[in-house]
Amino acid sequence: MQTDSVTDFLIIGAGFSGLVMAERLASAGWRCVVVDRRSHLGGNAYDEVDRAGVLVHRYGPHYFRSNSPRIVEYLSRFTKWHEVAYTIKSHARGRYWSFPINLNTFEEYLGRGADTAEFEAWLARVREPIARPGNSEEVIVSQVGREFYQLFFEGYTLKQWQRHPRELDASVCGRIPIRTNRDDRYLMESFQALPQDGYTAMFGRMIEAAPGVELHLGVDFTEAKRRWRHRHLVFSGAVDEYFDYRLGHLPYRSLRFEAESFAGEALAARVAVSGKPGFWQPAMQVNYPEAGVPQTRIVEIKHATGQQVAATTIMREFPADWRPGDEPFYPVPAPDARAAYQQYARLAEAEEGVSFIGRLATYRYYNMDQVVGMALAEADQLLRRYGEGDIEF
Ligand code: UDP
Repeated sequence: MQTDSVTDFLIIGAGFSGLVMAERLASAGWRCVVVDRRSHLGGNAYDEVDRAGVLVHRYGPHYFRSNSPRIVEYLSRFTKWHEVAYTIKSHARGRYWSFPINLNTFEEYLGRGADTAEFEAWLARVREPIARPGNSEEVIVSQVGREFYQLFFEGYTLKQWQRHPRELDASVCGRIPIRTNRDDRYLMESFQALPQDGYTAMFGRMIEAAPGVELHLGVDFTEAKRRWRHRHLVFSGAVDEYFDYRLGHLPYRSLRFEAESFAGEALAARVAVSGKPGFWQPAMQVNYPEAGVPQTRIVEIKHATGQQVAATTIMREFPADWRPGDEPFYPVPAPDARAAYQQYARLAEAEEGVSFIGRLATYRYYNMDQVVGMALAEADQLLRRYGEGDIEF
C-alpha cells in the first residue's frame, strides 16, 4: 500500500461528473486526484473499439443531447461533434413500428395513409382525460389512449423497472415525445450529436487539458480515502455506499449486455431485414416492449456513430435486479425510492467538505448534459468558496 499523499480535491468517480469537476478545478490551479474503481475512465459513457473493429458503447447507448448552449460550448472545447438525428423503432405484433409515436406510427396502425388532422381527431377520441398526470401510466394514456400505451409502454416499462408504470413518476415515460407530424426523432432536445471520436477520446482530452489532474484507475473509495489526504472530497458514487448503507440499500436497476458481431456473408444476408448493407437491423435501436421477449432493446450503435467499418456489433440489453456488488445503472424514479433517498440526502447535507454530484450521488435519473450542468455549477461554487489554486502551469 502506498503511503499517504496530499491533494486539494479528491474526486471519486471518473465519469462525466467527476471529470468535469476535475477539469474545472485543475484549470483554476488546484491539484485533483480522480479515482475510479473500474479499469477505464468515462463511467457508463465509456466507449471502445471491440474485437470486430466496431466502436461500441460498452454500457448501453449514450445519445448526447442538450438544450443548453453553455453545456455544448463547454464540451466542444474537448470534442468535435458528429450530428445525428437519433431514430429508433419498436418491435411488436411481429413487425417494426415507427417510434416514438408519430403520424407514421398511426399509418402503420391503420394500414393506410392518414394526415395529422385525422390522427389528432383519433387521439381526441381515445385519450383519457387526466388534468395532471401523476404517474407514467397516466402521462401516456392521457396523450395516446390505452391501446398504444399497452402496445408500446406497459410491457417495456414492467420489464425495465419491474414496477408497473402507475408506480413510476410521470417523468419516466414522459421522457418519450409523442408527435402528430412525421418527426420521428427519439429525443426532443435542440442539440443532438455524438462526440466525433467517441466519449473516451473526449474524456482523454479533458484530462490532458488540465495538467493538475492525476487519474488512478482500479482504486475504490475506501482505498482512496486512505491514500490521499485532501482539502475537499467530490463524491460521484452511490450515496448509500458513501454512508456504508447505514440506512439500508437504496433501490437501483441494473442492466446486462450481450454483444454479438457480424461480418461477411452473415451480415450481407441481414440486408433483407435492415434494408441497409452493412447493418443488422433497420435502426440504431429497436425496442421490444412485449413481455415474451427478454431484452428491452437491441442497439446497433454504428447507425449513429457513422463509423465506416465492414463489420457491425449489436448489443442486446436485459434489465436486471440490482444486488450489492452489481453496477447500479438507474436510480428508481418513484415516490417510495425518493423518500428513502431523502434520508440519505439529509446526511449528505450535514457532511462537511464533501460535494455529492452525478446520477448516483444525488439519486436522479439525469441525462449526460444535466450531469455536466450540475458539475459545472458545483465547480463554480467550490471556486467561489476556495478561490484560485496555487499551481502554475
Ligand atoms: N419506454 C417504454 N417503451 C419504449 C421506450 C421507453 O415504455 O419503447 C419507457 C420505459 O419506462 C423507459 C422510459 O420510457 O424506462 C424512458 O425511456 P428511455 O429510452 O429514455 O430510457 P433510457 O435510455 O434512459 O434507458
